[in-house]
Amino acid sequence: MRAWVVESPGPIDGGPLRRIERDLPEPGAGQVRVRVTCCGVCRTDLHLAEGDLPPRRPRVTPGHEVVGVVDAVGAGASRFTVGERVGVAWLGRTDGTCAYCRRGDENLCAHPVFTGWDVDGGYADACLADEAFAYRLPESLGDQQAAPLLCAGIIGFRALWAAAVPPGGRLGIYGFGGSAHLTAQVALAQGLRVHVLTRGEHNLALAKELGVDSVGEATDSPPEPLDGAVLFAPAGELVPVALRALDRGGTLAVAGIWLSQIPALDYAAELFEERRLRSVTANTRRDGEEFLRLADRLDVRATTTAYPMDAAPRALADLAHGRFSGAAVLVQS
Ligand SMILES: [Zn+2]
Ligand SMILES: [Zn+2]
Repeated sequence: MRAWVVESPGPIDGGPLRRIERDLPEPGAGQVRVRVTCCGVCRTDLHLAEGDLPPRRPRVTPGHEVVGVVDAVGAGASRFTVGERVGVAWLGRTDGTCAYCRRGDENLCAHPVFTGWDVDGGYADACLADEAFAYRLPESLGDQQAAPLLCAGIIGFRALWAAAVPPGGRLGIYGFGGSAHLTAQVALAQGLRVHVLTRGEHNLALAKELGVDSVGEATDSPPEPLDGAVLFAPAGELVPVALRALDRGGTLAVAGIWLSQIPALDYAAELFEERRLRSVTANTRRDGEEFLRLADRLDVRATTTAYPMDAAPRALADLAHGRFSGAAVLVQS
């Protein structure tokens, strides 16, 4: 089968990915093999390709927003049947036994396996998945629609929860890409007031189109103090900016797996009065199941740009340079 691999991590314009031929993988115990129909392009894939995230093993195939069809099942795997559509996401496996797993925080597992980082992901003709960590997808969603929900959507949903905005409260969204435009839809449907602060004209236009309450440049002050905010842009310099925009007791949740350096904080202006700064690390399966149900019910719709699977490097370069709004999806050619 054909598979993209991270050959030599470095700037995306330098061509860190390579397409290779490798054997079709055989599913092990409890696993399914998924024929990839499409795979969303997440910023984490870009961080991996560029070496911001250290590779966990050489020549890994990226991609953790995988939509496909089960075409083989391993020993003891009975949750899905051959021919069924499934989604494969970032949390590939946990040990289920560490202190974090036992207390219900499997997103913090001490021995996690991440799809497209520790094990091969969906930038390929097929990939393997542990059936217990795969998702059934709502029938109302087409393949390309469903793909970005599997990371961008789920992580955004967890970040929204982490930002702890009370009912009817005021949410700030910093950066407006694949994850943010899904999160904004959930927040609006839940009756929050949503202020988007971002750069890039097409991002601002997409935010307006979705009906948010205000849009502004990333460093602008929102029109009212925020009860909570989510930082989606991987820009540490926005941390103090967003903290200053919070009302007393407000929370800033950082959604990304990677963030550039945070400048020194001014305690009085940015943290005192019980402002909180927290991160969001992966997600639990419950987050995923809950979000997919909610996305179906609230009619959350991803704005997608399709690229053929052959064009994975171009999709990542376009993401790096902000050349599309919403989410990119690689479609099997
Ligand atoms: Zn664990
Ligand atoms: Zn992701």
